[in-house]
Amino acid sequence: MKKWQCSVCKYVHTGEEPPEKCPVCGVSSDKFVLLEEDTDLDTTEAEPAADDSKTDAPQEESSAPSDTDTPGGPFFEKFGRAAVYMEKAAQQMVKHHAHPMSVHLPNGVIPVVAILVVLSWFSGSELLLKAGFINSIFVLISLPIVGLTGFLEWQRKYNQAPTKIFKIKIGAASTAAICCIISIIWYLINPEVLEGSGSWLFVIINVLMLAGAGVSGYIGGKLVFKD
Ligand SMILES: [Zn+2]
Repeated sequence: MKKWQCSVCKYVHTGEEPPEKCPVCGVSSDKFVLLEEDTDLDTTEAEPAADDSKTDAPQEESSAPSDTDTPGGPFFEKFGRAAVYMEKAAQQMVKHHAHPMSVHLPNGVIPVVAILVVLSWFSGSELLLKAGFINSIFVLISLPIVGLTGFLEWQRKYNQAPTKIFKIKIGAASTAAICCIISIIWYLINPEVLEGSGSWLFVIINVLMLAGAGVSGYIGGKLVFKD
């Protein structure tokens, strides 16, 4: 049996032909390369920053300012010299899995927020709603780093592939972020939001935030574990 590897996400397919599209990242069959039967799977390209960047980083990704005058990286053209440090920071973040690490904060706290809001809605407890609000502040604080690291992973590990799976993931994550922001602003304007007539909408927004985080996390797991 032949083995085919997706050049975008490194998923390996066994069969005479490559699959019509990658079941993990969704790119078409022409992105699959044939692997030799007894060759080790190519995992190096999937994580361009995984090598020691000082010695043998791939040329395109490396932008060490010391040895050449032509640092590269997507940030360079926009931001000049300072971009060298931004590029290094970006490489480190992808190398050390900053996205899956940082995303655990909102993904752990969002269910707590949603449960507290629903409980407060049923019980009429202002304290539970306040607790939900305070928790949602931590979600808000995490959003910039989670969004940035997520974008960097998509850019560097998946070549910004505009496939369905990434569109759904980005859409779901954006939904969760927007719901969080709306919910916080709404509570600040009216802390008695659950006593008014629009309380159901406030509850829906918080449940939608949980759904968005859930979908995004599910796809993230699929991309990481490739099943
Ligand atoms: Zn793939």
